[in-house]
Amino acid sequence: MYNEKVEKMPLEELRALQNARLSSLVQRVYRDVPFYKKQFDQLGLHPNDIQTVADLHKIPFTRKTDLRDHYPYGLFAKPMEEVRRIHASSGTTGKPTVVGYTQDDLDVFDEVVARSLACAGAQPGMKLHNAYGYGLFTGGLGMHGGATKLGMAVIPVSGGMTERQLTILQDFKPEVICCTPSYAQTLSEELVKRDIDPKELAVKHAVLGAEPWTEAIRAQVERGLQVTATNIYGLSEIIGPGVSQEDFEEKGTGSYIWEDHFYPEVVHKDTGAPLPYGEEGVLVFTTLTKQAFPLLRYWTNDICSINYDSNAKRTHIKMSSIKGRSDDMLIIRGVNLFPTQVEEVIHTLGFLSANYRLVVSREGTMDAVTVEVETVSGTNPEDDQLRQKLQRSIKNTIGLSMTVALKAPNSIPRSQGGKLNRVQDLRKL
Ligand code: ADP
Repeated sequence: MYNEKVEKMPLEELRALQNARLSSLVQRVYRDVPFYKKQFDQLGLHPNDIQTVADLHKIPFTRKTDLRDHYPYGLFAKPMEEVRRIHASSGTTGKPTVVGYTQDDLDVFDEVVARSLACAGAQPGMKLHNAYGYGLFTGGLGMHGGATKLGMAVIPVSGGMTERQLTILQDFKPEVICCTPSYAQTLSEELVKRDIDPKELAVKHAVLGAEPWTEAIRAQVERGLQVTATNIYGLSEIIGPGVSQEDFEEKGTGSYIWEDHFYPEVVHKDTGAPLPYGEEGVLVFTTLTKQAFPLLRYWTNDICSINYDSNAKRTHIKMSSIKGRSDDMLIIRGVNLFPTQVEEVIHTLGFLSANYRLVVSREGTMDAVTVEVETVSGTNPEDDQLRQKLQRSIKNTIGLSMTVALKAPNSIPRSQGGKLNRVQDLRKL
């Protein structure tokens, strides 16, 4: 265990710590973030009205649209001179969601990832094969910092180039790997294709996240790579990976939420009413200690339940695996995608109608997206130049490769009410 004192903190003590952190957080955001000051003032709410986590329900939710409306830095609580890193993830349209970290925030990020890695079975002195993407996404650098803090040697492989990943696994002998579950499946299938015995590798633990996965995928990866595979969950808005982590000896019982930093609630997806432990709803977080980019009651859109586990090694609450989303966000190869992002690119090419749909499938273990879009009359659906142009624009603007198929007007199937279903997700998890 990386931080036994905190991870095993008696619940009463943990609650007192959360309450103290919450009330200071609310004072700070009221003073430093005009968006929250305005929201509180309009409701006649004063920061002193929020003393404990039981008062949280008085505060409205913060949503992704609020982040978009204050793009890029409008919700930051610290001047840029105190910000040490900026990350971004997909927004609902062309503009990304931007998040910032002070040095203190980066220290917390390292701490929660170090806890998570230890919880997954990693130990100081081991080597981490980090196959999460480096760059604007929080995955690569987030795992990197936490592993360094735990005392591991990081191999910053980043995503893609499977051939090279296999060589590194064989020759560098990392004991721990982190990547998306679907990429772990790809790696295990490649081992079979190349007749490499997983026992030749040193890898013992796989830390998998950034997209939903199942027990069936776990079984396949554990068998294929000869590892224990555990879940890591997170989102950029809250910090990145390491918001919660499953213990390698408590598999299938949920992932610990590091609730001394991230206070969780599960609420009803339509009414927003807080739900009792064990009931499924939308996961909402308050970032108790964040400095540069604090959020009150952030609506993640992720559906799950939370509950305490009295048989567990740690006292912190656990969340179930993610059962779905309450919005239309898709996760493609670990990257968030909103249909509206594609819509915006289509819109800029005037020869195409607003009628489109995304057909998502899984080719082997990797996600594939086909964008079907109807042409307007007078435009030829066989026009391959136009098709390629859209395909390129999507890749350049959104950063994900998709196949484009142009269709004749009115040829995409409509539902009985004449409505076009924007997404056809054929992946069967
Ligand atoms: P990341 O780089 O970790 O994917 P993003 O902020 O881009 O971070 O995306 C966060 C979203 O990814 C979450 O809100 C959730 O929908 C999904 N996600 C992340 N980790 C998991 C996981 N372990 N299981 C299911 N979904 C996950």
